[in-house]
Amino acid sequence: KSAVHRICSGQVIFDLSSAVKELVENSLDAGATTVEVALQCYGEKSFKVADNGSGIAPSNFQALALKHHTSKISDFSDLNSVTTFGFRGEALSSLCALGKLTVETRTKDEPVGTRLEFAHSGVVTSEGKTARPVGTAVTIENLFSTLPVRSKEFSRNIRKEYAKVIALLNAYALIAKGVRIVCTNTTGKNSKMVVLRTQGSSSLKDNIITAFGLNTFKCLDSFNVTIADGCQTEGFLSKPGPGSGRNSGDRQFFYVNGRPVDMPKVTKLVNELYRSSNSKQYPVAILNLCIPTTSYDVNVTPDKRKIFFASERAILLSLREAIENLYCPQQC
Ligand code: ADP
Ligand code: MG
Repeated sequence: KSAVHRICSGQVIFDLSSAVKELVENSLDAGATTVEVALQCYGEKSFKVADNGSGIAPSNFQALALKHHTSKISDFSDLNSVTTFGFRGEALSSLCALGKLTVETRTKDEPVGTRLEFAHSGVVTSEGKTARPVGTAVTIENLFSTLPVRSKEFSRNIRKEYAKVIALLNAYALIAKGVRIVCTNTTGKNSKMVVLRTQGSSSLKDNIITAFGLNTFKCLDSFNVTIADGCQTEGFLSKPGPGSGRNSGDRQFFYVNGRPVDMPKVTKLVNELYRSSNSKQYPVAILNLCIPTTSYDVNVTPDKRKIFFASERAILLSLREAIENLYCPQQC
């Protein structure tokens, strides 16, 4: 039974960035305004996500890392209106099956924090008091140590996995308003290095300036259009013409209602239309689709990065029209 749990967990958490993603989303769901990600050896040895969110109430301790324990959804009909990142109660139990989980937490009602250690099964093995401010810190040591083959793969690819983590944190840093995100890495040779630090600005514009600088921002046009009934875009795209883009698509971030997602068709559309306006570059694109929660489904893949839209064709068509207006107005 535990072997099956381990294998299934390896499908929910399939690499370092999917692991960090779940922890960061938990912090955001808990209303944190600061999220600190601390990697040891690029995450290979351990990673810790610490926040100043609500903390976890003692009544939740025992079930915290058990499968399908969630405090965020109580009724199946809630699924149509989830606004939190998480709702399946899979992340902590999966992470726990794949590495050594430790949680330190304190709510505002507790005078002192609690430190919890867990067995791979999700059972609490130790509980003690610890001094800490309100909020939660979750640490995973030796991710994938319970899956030997994956573990080797993980070590071999660690630099690539690390780069993915930084890209992922950038995606949240851009879209999260009023949340300060810091990432540090500590290696044997170097002491702690800050690899990413954001201000937690209250606007997308300021977040972009912090992340990519004012010069990049000056090459962007804001892209706020209505694309269908009750659907809007918010965001920024490179101005038309050469010189405003990049040599690779490394600064393209897509979201649905603030959730970072992969939208290959939208990515292709943006690239095609930008490049048809006489440019060999790739546009910078930070694009958030604001659409009713009932008109799409994120439950396609375990990491919720793939999206099914109820009316994909209509959305793509009106997006195309709006982007054409920006990049090739003469054709419209
Ligand atoms: P989900 O996010 O789908 O509910 P998780 O396995 O990610 O499931 O987390 C399980 C539960 O643990 C959450 O529902 C939440 O109650 C609690 N939790 C996890 N991380 C945090 C955190 N950083 N702050 C507050 N509560 C947390
Ligand atoms: Mg979660």
